[in-house]
Amino acid sequence: MKAKNLTRNILIALVAGAVVGMALTFAPESFFGPLDKYVLDPVGQIFINLIMMLVVPLVFVSIVLGTAGLGDPAKLGKIGISTISFFLATTAIAITLGLTLAYLVKPGKAGIFDTSNLGDYTPSEAPPIMETLINIIPENPIAALSAGEMLQIIAFAIFIGIALAYLNNKTKGIYNLFEQANDILGWLVMLVMRFAPYGAFALIASAIASAGLDAVGSMLSYLLTVIAGLILHAFIIYSLAIWLLGRGNPITFYKGFFPAMTVAFSTSSSNAALPVSMKTAQDTLGVKKEISSFVQPLGATINMDGTAIMQAVATVFIAQVYNLPLTMTELLMIVLVATLASVGTAGVPGVGLIMLAMVLNQVGLPVEGIALIIGIDRILDMLRTSLNITGDAACAYILSEREKRKITSK
Ligand code: ASP
Repeated sequence: MKAKNLTRNILIALVAGAVVGMALTFAPESFFGPLDKYVLDPVGQIFINLIMMLVVPLVFVSIVLGTAGLGDPAKLGKIGISTISFFLATTAIAITLGLTLAYLVKPGKAGIFDTSNLGDYTPSEAPPIMETLINIIPENPIAALSAGEMLQIIAFAIFIGIALAYLNNKTKGIYNLFEQANDILGWLVMLVMRFAPYGAFALIASAIASAGLDAVGSMLSYLLTVIAGLILHAFIIYSLAIWLLGRGNPITFYKGFFPAMTVAFSTSSSNAALPVSMKTAQDTLGVKKEISSFVQPLGATINMDGTAIMQAVATVFIAQVYNLPLTMTELLMIVLVATLASVGTAGVPGVGLIMLAMVLNQVGLPVEGIALIIGIDRILDMLRTSLNITGDAACAYILSEREKRKITSK
């Protein structure tokens, strides 16, 4: 199937899924329950499993090839530093944008929120950031691969890639093997994507029907504030970055990258969207393979601007609901902690909300407040994941354009 037809089919499936999901909110539980359990949920899960099946091998193989392709460690270091600087800077901007919008809109004052019986939300423990940083280097790479520990897999792959670049002619055989594995995985991605419209339909219908329209209604102000943040970040911050740093055309970028955004939207997972996101960046946007292979898997693991915006708005929202004003120091603290929290957020559905507990704890806000937003988080998860992977692709696109046009920083 042509990529264009596939995108069209996914879009049709998303709209149809949304309509069916809304209709299902009126259906009795005795009808929706079994339908969700035996049809929608399994179809959605099969789709997610099919792509997740490719993610670990793809990340490993592509980072090895990307690193080896970048060649000398100096170039790798330069790309690495530019990538991480871009990720951190855009994330900090995203949080500041989220905080500003939340202060202007005041979503926590937009209704009467009953906080008297929220005591039952117990947050799952967020992984401590320091430990995560130290553990980036895996003691046992095979265990990391089998557990799907993304940062560890990336670290190990970078080491292998550097070795391949150094040993060059001696290891041609292994290099070719990785290239062929990459071809196989690319082919499988296209095969799995044929199932995407069905998966997308089932996932959206189930997400909307489970959230329910009542939940959406009462949280409208919060929902719209986050959405406004996501849109502004995409259209202003990324567009400016593409234009000023990469001398590229933001419209061309968004038009080309749109298919990958629909996959992120339906799966709510940066990891699941990664195979398509890389393929789209390379084939449609012409991003250099070695740059895309290095930047995008890393971004899907640590760069989550959409998540950061949600965390910023949610923090101010909860502070407003509980009538707890935040000081300037606390706001700066939020920028810092939410940056770390979004770095620590894994690219799978819903983790951004778990990491929010860490931000709330840090500034002494009641973690139970999360219970207020949990009901509609799935809808926001779909949207923020689309932004999350767009940030990764924008970074890859900018670095690739800079290299092609030999733009050097002054
Ligand atoms: N679902 C998001 C992602 O995969 C993470 C989150 O915010 O929950 O990018």
